[in-house]
Amino acid sequence: MNRSSIEVLSPAGDLEKLKTVIAYGADAVYMSGKEFGLRTFSDNFSHEEMIEGISYAHEHNVKCYVTMNIMAHEDDIEKIDDEILFVANVAKADAVIVSDPGVFRRVRQLVPNLEIHISTQANVTNSMGCNFWADQGASRIVLAREVSLEQLRQIKPKLNPKLTIECFIHGAMCVSYSGRCLLSSYFTGRSANKGSCAQPCRWGYYVVEEKRLEDTLPIEQDQRGTYIFNSKDICMIDHVPEMIESGVDSFKIEGRIKGAYYAAAATKVYREAVDKYFSGEKYEVDSRWKDILDKVVHRDYSTGFFFDNPGQDAKIVYDKSYNKPAFVVGVIDGYDASTGLHKVSQRNKLFVGDTVNVLTPKGYCEPLKAVSLYNEDMEVIDSTPHAQMTYYVKFDRDVELSKMTFISRDGDKDAGIAPSTRA
Ligand code: SF4
Repeated sequence: MNRSSIEVLSPAGDLEKLKTVIAYGADAVYMSGKEFGLRTFSDNFSHEEMIEGISYAHEHNVKCYVTMNIMAHEDDIEKIDDEILFVANVAKADAVIVSDPGVFRRVRQLVPNLEIHISTQANVTNSMGCNFWADQGASRIVLAREVSLEQLRQIKPKLNPKLTIECFIHGAMCVSYSGRCLLSSYFTGRSANKGSCAQPCRWGYYVVEEKRLEDTLPIEQDQRGTYIFNSKDICMIDHVPEMIESGVDSFKIEGRIKGAYYAAAATKVYREAVDKYFSGEKYEVDSRWKDILDKVVHRDYSTGFFFDNPGQDAKIVYDKSYNKPAFVVGVIDGYDASTGLHKVSQRNKLFVGDTVNVLTPKGYCEPLKAVSLYNEDMEVIDSTPHAQMTYYVKFDRDVELSKMTFISRDGDKDAGIAPSTRA
C-alpha cells in the first residue's frame, strides 16, 4: 500500500468548488451535469463548464467522475444517449457514477471503455453485490453508508481484484437507505431520488388525531421538541488508519450542495490525514484538523454505521439546525507585497478590527486582525457591506496568503447568526 493507493475524492458542486478542492488537495472530484445526477440544488455544470472543469482537473492530474445516478423514469432516458456520449467523448470524464441497471447497460453499449462506478444509490452492502457489478463491467463500488468497518474488512478479500471500493468518510447521512426515501416526494413533491430532496427528515413533527387536525400534540424529547429522523453527520477523522487498513480505496467527502469553504476544509483535513498516515511517522490526529471541521457547516458528528448500528445515537433529537460556528467573510484573490494589502472577494460583512480565522490550501496561519479596509477605488472603508464586492485588507501581521484562502469570523450557533445582517 502506498500514498497513491488512497484517493481523496471531493465534491465539486460547480466550477468554483472544483478549482477550490483541487487547490486543497483532492485526488479526484465528482460532479454532475444539469440533468442526470442527484443534487439538483447544487449549481452543477453546463456542458461548457463541464468541459472546462474536467480539462482544468486533468491539467492538475485530478480525476473527474460524473454522476448519472438518478432513479431514471421513462421520460428521463430520452436524452440519456446524448449525455453519455457527451460526458465520455467530449467532456472526457474519467468515469460515470450510475445506479440504474438500464443506464449502466447503455453506457457499456455506447462507450465500452468508459469506467463505471456503482453509486451508493444502488445500495450495495455485500461482496456478492460488488462482484455482480464487477461481472457486468463496473470498476468501482461506492458502498452503502450502512456497511460497517468489520463488514468492510470481510468484503474486501472476496472481491474481484479489478474492483475498487469507495466509502463516504465525511458528511451528511440519510435516515433512509442512502437516499432511497419517499419523505420528500410525499411532503413536497420534490423527489430525493431525482436529486431534489427538501430534507423533511430534518423537520420537527407532531402527532395529530384525525378528527382534531387543529390540535397538534407535541412529541417531546425535551422542551425544544424532537427531530426523530434527523441524522448526525459522519466524521471519520479519528479513524483514518482503520479505514485505510480495512481496504477502502477512495475516501469520499459528501456535500456537492454545501459551500466551497466546507469542501475546501474537509478536503484539506483528509488530504493531510492520508498523507500523515503514509508519511512513516506515527499517526496522530492533529487538533487543528478538528478545529477546521468544527468551523464548517455540519450537524453533530458521529461515526455513522462504521462501528455498529448507531440506533438512537445516530439522530439529533434536539435541534434541526446545522452547527455553524464560522462564516466566511472573504476569499483571497491576490497579495501586493509592496503595500502588504490582500485583495479579497467578499462573502459576508467584515469590519475593521475584526479577527479572522484563516483556512489556506497549504499550511496554517494563526488568526489575523483586519486593521484597515479599502474599496476597489482604494478609499478607506470601515466595513464591507456589498455582496461579492472586491476589497483590500491590511492585517496586523505581514503574511502572504495565497489565492483561494478563506478568511472567516466565528459565528454563534445558538443565536443562529445571519452573517449578512450583522451590524
Ligand atoms: S428526506 Fe432525509 S432521509 Fe430522505 S432522502 Fe432526504 S435527506 Fe435522506
